[in-house]
Amino acid sequence: MRLTNKVALITGGSSGIGLETALLFAKEGARVVIADINGEGGQQVLARIKEQGGIAAYCRADISKATDCEQMVAFAEKTFGKLNVLFNNAGIMHSDDGDAVSTGESVWDLTMNINVKGVFFGCKYGIPALRRAGGGSIINTASFVAHLGAATPQIAYTASKGAVLSMTRELAIIHARENIRVNALCPGPLRTDLLMKFLNTEEKKQRRLVHIPMGRFGEAREMAAAALFLASDESSYMTGAEFLVDGGITAAYVTPE
Ligand code: NAD
Repeated sequence: MRLTNKVALITGGSSGIGLETALLFAKEGARVVIADINGEGGQQVLARIKEQGGIAAYCRADISKATDCEQMVAFAEKTFGKLNVLFNNAGIMHSDDGDAVSTGESVWDLTMNINVKGVFFGCKYGIPALRRAGGGSIINTASFVAHLGAATPQIAYTASKGAVLSMTRELAIIHARENIRVNALCPGPLRTDLLMKFLNTEEKKQRRLVHIPMGRFGEAREMAAAALFLASDESSYMTGAEFLVDGGITAAYVTPE
């Protein structure tokens, strides 16, 4: 098993990438804390982990709130004794997020508060815990949109993921000598609730699919596999990196017929 004796905290663990990662990390021997605003989803993930013989706990946390982030880290240490892996994964893509002219200030603020401040708070309270454990791995979920502009505009989301990427680099450098590695997972377009709610018509879906060389949306479990590599000691010489797992979208100039 690749995460034996490790304790992992996953934000947004009730759905999508976080859910699949929680299941996989637990299978690989980690004790998992699922931190999410969605309690019902969290309990369902817990039940599935228990069914597969794993160990996990749920902690309600809104990552845009400092006190919640402080508490989720304290919960992990209290419940499982330490923290080794912090997966800052929760994020939103607001359905009213559009171009600069049409996007409201409240949509911008909400997106930044969750997608950017949430990662900052995760690190603010998680890094002292990782230090107490002698080091660890932080994975921040950014996106391929931090590399490419999208024809379907989502200005707040795109800006938020650029911020996650640059924050990841600085974190990696600052904490490299403390045995804390920090990498960004950059997923391509996935078949999860988050994107399917945004690309809510067949036309919008096709418009995105046309740009993906592989010709299909990615699956959350494919991101979980990448997160497992970043969390485990197999990636021990990797920090400050952008791990693109995107079906080739960022490599493409023209996609094959
Ligand atoms: P999802 O909507 O399936 O899951 C997101 C989870 O985050 C949900 O369980 C939700 O309850 C939780 N969450 C939302 N706001 C929260 C808050 N304030 N505090 C705590 N939890 C909160 O989405 P997903 O596709 O699994 O996305 C996970 C991450 O991957 C996000 O950061 C997203 O931006 C990123 N991402 C997704 C895609 C995609 O195509 N789906 C592509 C690139 C990046």
